[in-house]
Amino acid sequence: MRRKLAAGNWKMNGVTAALGELDALQEAASGPADVLICPPATLIATASAKAGDLAIGGQDCHTARSGAHTGDLSAEMLKDAGATYVILGHSERRADHGETDALVAEKSRAAWSAGLTSIICVGETLDEREGGKTLDIIGMQLAASVPDGCTAENTVVAYEPVWAIGTGKVPTTAQIAEVHAFIRSSLIQRFGNSVASAIPVLYGGSVKAANAAEIFAVDDVDGALVGGASLKASDFAPIVRALNAA
Ligand code: PEP
Repeated sequence: MRRKLAAGNWKMNGVTAALGELDALQEAASGPADVLICPPATLIATASAKAGDLAIGGQDCHTARSGAHTGDLSAEMLKDAGATYVILGHSERRADHGETDALVAEKSRAAWSAGLTSIICVGETLDEREGGKTLDIIGMQLAASVPDGCTAENTVVAYEPVWAIGTGKVPTTAQIAEVHAFIRSSLIQRFGNSVASAIPVLYGGSVKAANAAEIFAVDDVDGALVGGASLKASDFAPIVRALNAA
């Protein structure tokens, strides 16, 4: 049985007052699915101190353990603040900061060294989908962003079509199924069946309470990476409950 994970990515949203949302998630988080909140880095330590049944994660880390990198945070610092996961290669970081697959892989190795689980994001743009290149792009991103040494304990893969993030557009369940099956078979080819069949693969992109159950019913969808609908417990808790019930 693969573990299920509902992960909330708060992006650059939230100050201390937002941490009240964590209390309101506790009941939903006591079910079988793991529940993770990745708040802005400024809130990780405070969030960790009151996390209860929730896990807390970062949204990025540097490749180095320490040094002259003004404004950056190392994986070790995230871990020290109480994080257990870190999101890597989110399409917003790939677009806003020019992050390459090779950099994402290096960050993942740094995360593993610090004892964090990497959530490695892959996903095609609308042009790539319309050009029939989706599986080629996902295959290339997976091959170059997921380092050797990947296990079910140190890695979660998130399939996030760029055109579905924050847009309200969601792929059909057949499209999600096709990509998740492809990701699973690519992981099996590279890491072998016993490792790869246990690696959680999340779907991300405009997940909300109204579509969560349908998405979680798709084969090889082990949970969700959720942006907008993770900011309020009243939106995120029904998604967590749908995953608990899946
Ligand atoms: C995300 O940022 O990873 C995401 C999936 O955002 P949203 O749920 O808002 O589409």
